[in-house]
Amino acid sequence: MNDTSFASRDSSPDESPPLHIEVDHMRCVGNAMCLELAPGVFAHNHWRQSEVVDPEGDNLEDILEAAGNCPTSAISVSDAATGKVLFP
Ligand code: SF4
Repeated sequence: MNDTSFASRDSSPDESPPLHIEVDHMRCVGNAMCLELAPGVFAHNHWRQSEVVDPEGDNLEDILEAAGNCPTSAISVSDAATGKVLFP
């Protein structure tokens, strides 16, 4: 299985930058914490691993909270325009 990533095309109306979000499937254990904290962004695939379905589906705060609460540190978040790492 490959990593999944999804870059948003536009900035949100708020101050959130366009985001590039990745889930490392070598680390994801499918406990669904990210789905609980940012359900608009993450969903389980057929193998019960998280995938990014919409990088603009939740606000930046919730996305960073989801990344920070992943038990295996499988989620990384960066600014899609500048490449600046926002998490970890
Ligand atoms: S919180 Fe981490 S380990 Fe759990 S489903 Fe999301 S990416 Fe996978």
